[in-house]
Amino acid sequence: MRDKHTRRAAIQWMIPTVILLGVIIAMFVNFFTTSSEAAKTQVERNFTMVVGEYASKFGEQLTSMQKAGKTVTAVIRQHSEKELGLAEELVEALCQETDAYMVIMTNFDGRGINQDREWVSLYDVDYLNQLGDGNEKFLYLENDGLTGKSAFLSVLPIGKKEAKAVLLLYYPAEAFRNLIRKGDFDGNAFYVITDMSGEIIEGNMATETIFEGDNLWACVSDEKEVKRIQNRMANGNGGITNIADSTMSYRLIYSPVGINDWYVAMGVNQEYADRLQGQVWNNTKVMFYKLIIAVFVFLGVILILNIVGKIRSHEENRDLADKADTDLLTGLNNKLATERKIKEYISVHPDEQALMFVLDIDNFKKINDTMGHAFGDEVIRTLGRQIRGEFRVSDVIGRIGGDEFMIFLKNIKDDALVEQEAGRVAKFFANFQAGEYVKYSATASIGAAVYPRDAKDFESLYKAADKALYKAKERGKNQLAFYGDDK
Ligand code: GH3
Ligand code: MG
Repeated sequence: MRDKHTRRAAIQWMIPTVILLGVIIAMFVNFFTTSSEAAKTQVERNFTMVVGEYASKFGEQLTSMQKAGKTVTAVIRQHSEKELGLAEELVEALCQETDAYMVIMTNFDGRGINQDREWVSLYDVDYLNQLGDGNEKFLYLENDGLTGKSAFLSVLPIGKKEAKAVLLLYYPAEAFRNLIRKGDFDGNAFYVITDMSGEIIEGNMATETIFEGDNLWACVSDEKEVKRIQNRMANGNGGITNIADSTMSYRLIYSPVGINDWYVAMGVNQEYADRLQGQVWNNTKVMFYKLIIAVFVFLGVILILNIVGKIRSHEENRDLADKADTDLLTGLNNKLATERKIKEYISVHPDEQALMFVLDIDNFKKINDTMGHAFGDEVIRTLGRQIRGEFRVSDVIGRIGGDEFMIFLKNIKDDALVEQEAGRVAKFFANFQAGEYVKYSATASIGAAVYPRDAKDFESLYKAADKALYKAKERGKNQLAFYGDDK
């Protein structure tokens, strides 16, 4: 019965534990096979995000400059180009209000007027022939031919099909560098503007030290990879590749500006990228371990709570059982418990000699009648307490009736001990007194029987001791009689 219960409890715990362990092992395997790859993806996603941010910021600056220019061309067109004064004012305002460092209005004859209302000559600039086709566009100028600066040029025709003039807004190429936050990736990254040809248009690094002929693709491992990048760029997509020279290698992340085939590309030192990846991977690992530990702690707590609960309920059950076994007045065993404990003992030690006393207080009715029922209770209580103190804890002592007690002494080796214990009981009553203020010396008649000599089971032994008790009463009370002792 108990075995079955234990087995059921074990199964109840075992099945979920085995399932949980299985899940944890599966998680481990899955985690370590996929997560180092995931760390790489996470780091690259971060790179891509940063580059994308710069690319769109740069694109926005150019287009917002262009937008302002367009409003001006519309106004100039409406008022006809003849109103030179108004046009001059607008050109000046454009230069002040946009990122352009120079704004020029020209009518292709090589002469133009700038934001300072000065006439400038565009005769010798190499981009003059690209201005007159009536299309709005952006050009990159390594040298603007006037100030010597590099510029991103927004070309805006004035007039529809056959434009008679164009507005030119020069965005300083070096302004790109100011977009880049200082200390990005702890200084382990460089940023350039490039195009499909891989040419480095502008950048924040000493490019010539690394890139042959200022070309990024010269550092890409093979032609096929260059083709792949150019294909992506042709479709307006960003991407990631690796570039390397004899001393350094970089992760190169590129993102479209949204104008022409211009791209912002970021090169991150490969070692640094690997280190970042390692960090992310480590953090993820630590988090994973913490999670596992949390799971085990949780399980441990549940287990402990369960065990504590079991112990508690066990204790409660035992307390209840103890209560059920106890006689309330004396704290001794009650009749049922006395009987059960003696029977249990006999069944386990059938060959051991034991001694049973049954005792009954003499003239107890008279105590009740003369001293009161409460005093009678006091006598019973005192007797119970004192007699318990007379014997070993392991001996069974119980109150089995109103003024009737049973004492069962275990393991009484020989007859000398039988005599000795009988003497102890007799002597106890010779000295017994109850009552706090009024002392009352109560006596008792005692019957004794020896197991297994007089009887071989509880009932017979009780009967034998009871018979002896009756004999003691007959002989005049206040004495002890043995079963079979007919003197
Ligand atoms: P004997 O000497 O032959 O033993 O006579 P006795 O007067 O002691 O009477 P007996 O043992 O036959 O009966 C015991 C009496 O004890 C009966 C009852 O009135 C009284 N009694 C039983 N239980 C209690 C109890 O819990 N408290 C008190 N005060 N009296 C009890
Ligand atoms: Mg009595």
